[in-house]
Amino acid sequence: MKKIYRIVFNTEETIINYIESIGIKVDSNEINAVFYIEENHEKFQDVQEKMKNYDFRVTVSTKFTKKEKDNAKYLIVKITWVNGYPMPDDAMEYREETYDNSLFCLSCGAGLKQNNSFLLKGEPKWGKKDFLKLFWVEDEIFMKKSTYETILKPLGINALPVLHYKTKKVLDTVVQLEIKDKLKIDLEDYTYTKCTSCNQIKYRIIENGFFPKILDNPKNSLVARTHEYFGHDALAFNYLIFSHDIYKAIIENKLKGIDFIPVE
Ligand SMILES: [Zn+2]
Repeated sequence: MKKIYRIVFNTEETIINYIESIGIKVDSNEINAVFYIEENHEKFQDVQEKMKNYDFRVTVSTKFTKKEKDNAKYLIVKITWVNGYPMPDDAMEYREETYDNSLFCLSCGAGLKQNNSFLLKGEPKWGKKDFLKLFWVEDEIFMKKSTYETILKPLGINALPVLHYKTKKVLDTVVQLEIKDKLKIDLEDYTYTKCTSCNQIKYRIIENGFFPKILDNPKNSLVARTHEYFGHDALAFNYLIFSHDIYKAIIENKLKGIDFIPVE
């Protein structure tokens, strides 16, 4: 496990020359510049020292080794290919088409319950990818149908049809994974807020380190969501969890568009 620091500062600063001189790429536009540095980089201390003279913002993320992921019994799913919007995309109308939104809370974003198929403009342009996440929909997984049928379906994972928005016909190349199981997470030491409109509890997004452990005793061949909500402001979502056997099938078949965070 490696900590990676993402540092954003004002482009005009002369520090860019120094950062590039130690072999780190700086991406900059007219306003901001950004670079990434691992905590075990030989110049990490120097960079820290030099940055003290500048205004900057820092966010930390964690990179896991393959071994850490291979050893995990359960893993949080991160879909890395984000493409397309749920339809209709005008004024978030998809919420009415695809969900029972009678308990939906506009303040905190919690309470949507899917009761209809997702609608898309057309077939996703898959290229080499196998997994897809839609914009605005943090906690659903879409998959190339042929990959799903050969790799995840045999493991007992169910899928739901996805429809073409205009014709309401089932799309040929995409399915949505069915995620019925919910797992409770040990979040005793984690920060949360309680919504003043609906009283829903929501935890801060977990960006760092291993994901906290699962309290329930989950089965094998599992695709599940956390019982708890995470997010900030009007964003609320559940993290999605795969069991090791599903992870293994995905890695062995080199499927694309997905990454994992091991659960403790
Ligand atoms: Zn609320």
